[in-house]
Amino acid sequence: MTTPADPAQKPARPTAPPSDSPSRVDNAVPGERYEFFKVIQGYLDRAASVIQMPEYVRAILSQPKNELIVNFPVRMDDGSVRLFKGYRIQHSNILGPYKGGMRFHESASLDDFKALAAMMTWKCSLMNLPYGGGKGGIKFNPRDVSRNELQRITRRFFHSLGSNIGPDYDIPAPDMGTNAQTMAWAMDTYMNTVGMVNKQAATGVVTGKPIASGGTYGREKATGQGVVHCITEWAERERVDLEGKRLMVQGFGNVGSHTAVLLSKLGVSLVAVGDHSGYLYNAEGFNAHRLQEYVQAKGSIAGYPNGKPISREEFFAADADIFVPAALENQIGEEEATALKARLVAEGANGPCNPAGEEVLAKRGIHVLPDVLANAGGVTVSYYEWVQNKRSEQWTLEEVDERLETAMKGAYERVEHFARKHRCDTRLACYGVALERLVKVYAEREIFP
Ligand code: NAD
Repeated sequence: MTTPADPAQKPARPTAPPSDSPSRVDNAVPGERYEFFKVIQGYLDRAASVIQMPEYVRAILSQPKNELIVNFPVRMDDGSVRLFKGYRIQHSNILGPYKGGMRFHESASLDDFKALAAMMTWKCSLMNLPYGGGKGGIKFNPRDVSRNELQRITRRFFHSLGSNIGPDYDIPAPDMGTNAQTMAWAMDTYMNTVGMVNKQAATGVVTGKPIASGGTYGREKATGQGVVHCITEWAERERVDLEGKRLMVQGFGNVGSHTAVLLSKLGVSLVAVGDHSGYLYNAEGFNAHRLQEYVQAKGSIAGYPNGKPISREEFFAADADIFVPAALENQIGEEEATALKARLVAEGANGPCNPAGEEVLAKRGIHVLPDVLANAGGVTVSYYEWVQNKRSEQWTLEEVDERLETAMKGAYERVEHFARKHRCDTRLACYGVALERLVKVYAEREIFP
């Protein structure tokens, strides 16, 4: 049984990397400004033609419904006042309330949030969840502020969002740079803005909360668990024995670390790992669980003993069988895809492959488990949390795990069936399954008025 980690263990301000730590890594594939939203629109257009989607539905889904930007002041520890920019993009609510994470990251942009919000619409549709898609966050580095500052930034941001979020309207969750603690502050802030008699019903305004504050068992590891279900499904179909296989993971936060820990229980050995502080290699394999504890205590992999510092280029060329990107988008371009030795890329992160990288992977016969499917475990268990909040229930970890496994396997099967029927790649198949459900709803409800 995995006990959800104490959110307070993930520090806002990690210790400085020791002198033997590798140099800082690049944020993304070098080159021109990456237009993530255009890439997602491109996938939408391709899938729309596969399912012969009515043009008006394609046009509606090609843009988010609402784009909200808030600028809000926060008093910092030294007494100064700093202005922050926050975003919430609400892509679609035709299937249910907007749903999606809040990201705190220095490179966050409106374009990224638009792309990520649209992907949430596809993800929720693919998983048959009663949700639409949303995404948001703040452009800043949470490592640069103290814990108290982080709390004030979070609370002021959620206060600024006001009634633009709500348990039946728009339900945020953790993403990069945010965690269960962030969600506890967010929920508490929201609760204090609603009338006293409505307080309890407001618990479901965010998911990914700590257990004691209305969270669910299994949410902390849910995204990693979903990635692992997809990998085991793939292995079974490809007749690959996972025992003894080598794993490389980029990003060792929530998604990357839980994926590595869960895979280690299946005999998969983590040989290469990277995060914002750099990359490490160990041919014998890291103890994923110990590394996870180390990162939770120190804030990064920097200085972890038993690992040889390697460059980003060496990381992508590492001898491994499975690659789980679990950091940022646009990490696997042409060069990285050419260097990769792994046979499978399971996208824990959203949008880690750019189109050029994806083309190379396809040419080289490297399988890709697309983000919209592979990392959908998080939002699926978020849904379970929301249902438990509505019913004032607390499900056991076993119950959550069992439901998630069924949901992931069902979605995998739907995607595979679509890919076979339409002779298309898995990413297009994910979009195809998701869009078919959306088209059906538009056909039934039609356009108001
Ligand atoms: P996190 O903040 O817990 O961890 C992010 C990791 O990425 C950290 O290890 C960080 O050091 C690393 N990182 C940051 N910048 C990097 C860089 N330039 N190069 C290499 N590594 C870098 O975030 P998370 O929640 O694990 O999210 C990771 C990815 O998974 C994101 O793409 C997110 O959208 C996606 N995702 C998360 C969830 C979830 O439930 N948390 C669900 C679905 C998808």
